[in-house]
Amino acid sequence: MHRQLFVTTALPYANGNFHIGHIMEYIQADIWVRYQRMRGHAVDFVCADDTHGAPIMIAAEKAGKTPQQFVADIAAGRKPYLDGFHISFDNWHSTDAPENHELARQIYRDLRDLPAAQGGSLIERKTIEQFFDPEKNMFLPDRFIKGECPKCHAKDQYGDNCENCGAVYAPTDLINPYSALSGATPELKSSEHFFFKLSDPRCVEFLEKWTQDGKLQPEVANKIKEWFTIRTNPDGSKSEGLGDWDISRDAPYFGIEIPDAPGKYFYVWLDAPIGYLASIKNLLTQRGLDYAHYMANPRLEQYHFIGKDIVTFHTLFWPAILHFSGRKTPNNVFVHGFLTVNNGEKMSKSRGTGLDPLKYLSLGMNPEWLRYYLAAKLSARNEDIDFNADDFMARVNSDLIGKFVNIASRAAGFLTKRFDGKLTTEFGAMGAVILADIRTESDAIADLYNTREFGKATREIMLLADKVNAYVDQHKPWDLAKDPANNVALHQVCSVLVNAFAVLTRYLAPILPSLAQSVQRFIGLPMDQWDVDTDVVAIQPYQHLMARVTPEQLDALFGVIEVVAPVEPAKAAPKNAAKPAAPAVAVDPNAPGGEALAPTIGIDDFVKIDLRIAAILNCEAVDGSTKLLRLTLDAGEKDEAGQPRSRNVFSGIASAYKPEELVGKLTVLVANLAPRKMKFGVSEGMVLAASHGDEKASPGIYILNPWPGAHPGMRIH
Ligand SMILES: [Zn+2]
Repeated sequence: MHRQLFVTTALPYANGNFHIGHIMEYIQADIWVRYQRMRGHAVDFVCADDTHGAPIMIAAEKAGKTPQQFVADIAAGRKPYLDGFHISFDNWHSTDAPENHELARQIYRDLRDLPAAQGGSLIERKTIEQFFDPEKNMFLPDRFIKGECPKCHAKDQYGDNCENCGAVYAPTDLINPYSALSGATPELKSSEHFFFKLSDPRCVEFLEKWTQDGKLQPEVANKIKEWFTIRTNPDGSKSEGLGDWDISRDAPYFGIEIPDAPGKYFYVWLDAPIGYLASIKNLLTQRGLDYAHYMANPRLEQYHFIGKDIVTFHTLFWPAILHFSGRKTPNNVFVHGFLTVNNGEKMSKSRGTGLDPLKYLSLGMNPEWLRYYLAAKLSARNEDIDFNADDFMARVNSDLIGKFVNIASRAAGFLTKRFDGKLTTEFGAMGAVILADIRTESDAIADLYNTREFGKATREIMLLADKVNAYVDQHKPWDLAKDPANNVALHQVCSVLVNAFAVLTRYLAPILPSLAQSVQRFIGLPMDQWDVDTDVVAIQPYQHLMARVTPEQLDALFGVIEVVAPVEPAKAAPKNAAKPAAPAVAVDPNAPGGEALAPTIGIDDFVKIDLRIAAILNCEAVDGSTKLLRLTLDAGEKDEAGQPRSRNVFSGIASAYKPEELVGKLTVLVANLAPRKMKFGVSEGMVLAASHGDEKASPGIYILNPWPGAHPGMRIH
């Protein structure tokens, strides 16, 4: 029976760009969603920007924009992150969209107008006293009131808690309070607020059951249990059980106006989760489908992926307002912990300022490295995980590439050259056992994905890869290939390897969707289905699937490589260079070109350097450098969307060429050189040029230009 799933991630607050914590959550949810889709289930995976509230209103004012313009600008920056990390949302919407205004107001009316037969209204009005900024003419949110801590007397503490001693208090307890917006002394003013009656016995009874019926993660359910208890805490304070929830704010406020209450707005946390419904409604409208009909489907399952900091909103307020407004409640809420970077040392000078997702992508680092690494660390539990640079490199290079990707490359060449790319289904006794072993793990691995035990799933898959590698070492295809008498055995071994690789790729496809697509082209079987039993019949010539991560990339990512001076290779030294440019090469007037030959290398060393034909699409001078030109190169590459991808390369050839001389020409690119961050930007490779070892004696730099007929992307062998 195919499932109908409605899946969301938490709505990011639209006051800034994504950080790595957002990306981790999206990757976690995306892996789960892709797995479900591979099983043939229908999944609608949506999210939206959380746009309302005082902080955005204030940030917009500071930026000189309307709140609407401010959040639109933030929304416009979302796509490079989501596409860049292969997050397969079906819709990205906004809580300021008309659907959300309408849904929030309707849900509120449904709660307000509950008939007496059902216990009556769950909305209550109460007059409360609040700090008001007389200069800004607005009520101040707790975070915008500062003053002296009433307990430890530390200055400049927030209105809700002291960062020095940890005390929790009301803003009215602060000594000498002031407005963080204007500096004015706030005045106490009374105002009528709207409350959702979470303390009502109907809500308490419903939530005790909803949160404790076994669906939530045990550690989450246990934490929630404490909130229901009326007791005296060890520090003498009283826990009152569930309290009513203040759902209104006074104008000026960027939000949704409360029906029949001019000047009163919904608190941002009331309408934010309703944004899940607004986003799915918007998606359904795009598809010409009916929202009410969709939500009424008894088979619809609704899941939210969230961080541990917003559990209260998603396990108390959210199910309660849905249930009592007559709506479907979530089937589950999946809570994850926080991501720390390099053991929480993200602010240390040595490692820079954490892991910036866009910088990661701009350095040319493979998004699937990060997807794999996070998957390997994630479990179904609400626990923190740490991104560790050394661990990252080890898992990607040793496990993902060393154990898994290399299986294909070890077999593909022989199959293509010796057997015309055709595979045999005669696997030999041992090969058949290996394949059966791998295929029978299908249900166990599927179950780990379904229960979000991605770390366990990757460990299981790598154990299977170990088995395959042991089989390789035992049968040594490279030895078999030496004697044509072994052709049958070679064919068998290589066919077993490619079939094993195909199954392992399917197991990893939810984590590595782009690599799976490349493998699909390679083996000619669809990789978007959880079908592990179909044999591979033939392969296309093997294309390189994934590069290794380099220490230089991680150093650049974490800012260990400071912004460096432009690299000035010896070849690119300007005519009047006062000193030899690094790396220095000993000038030898008797040697060819003025330089002694470098030590001999084997073909293995040479093939590590991937030289490609590249077209110079654009060339321009670099502001602030007399030596460098900025080249935009087409090396025949495409991005995930299939669009042509160009590279930015700096070259120290400004003394020899005018930019316009080079545009439209072909040249040679070192395509697998680690990206290098320079003062002017990241250089994604290097172009080749010739020069004499003794710059003074024989000036001139000559960029390489291939024979006519070569075209961008061709490899130079
Ligand atoms: Zn204090």
